[in-house]
Amino acid sequence: MSPTSHISRIRQRIAQLVNERRAAEKVLLERPPLLKGTFSEVRRTCGNPACKCARGEKHLCRQLSASVEGKTRTWNVPRGYAAKVKRLTDNYRRFRRARAAWVRTNQRLLELINELEAARTVPDFRDESGRQKG
Ligand SMILES: [Zn+2]
Repeated sequence: MSPTSHISRIRQRIAQLVNERRAAEKVLLERPPLLKGTFSEVRRTCGNPACKCARGEKHLCRQLSASVEGKTRTWNVPRGYAAKVKRLTDNYRRFRRARAAWVRTNQRLLELINELEAARTVPDFRDESGRQKG
């Protein structure tokens, strides 16, 4: 591959990644609040042998789980908060995904910028490729 087409491919890839990074930044700059954790609905028994759940009609429990200082903690979510907790934890997941994409994209961009620097650098001032015409 000629040095020119090599440089041109790196530049195209950089432009592509800059677009991907911009898409991630759009998500990162959104306004809605975030709630760290995962919302889930589980069926469970309460332990009372006289309760209907002991006969198979289990209780529906809504819960929020999140890692706090390296340990997973779980909270019960009252029915009235379920939709809100779901929405806010979805926002959180969306934010975290965009953040991870942003970090990956920047790492890749730095690699490509280094490649570009290497490809554009001439060995010494007598090299003809950087010479102005005319
Ligand atoms: Zn029960």
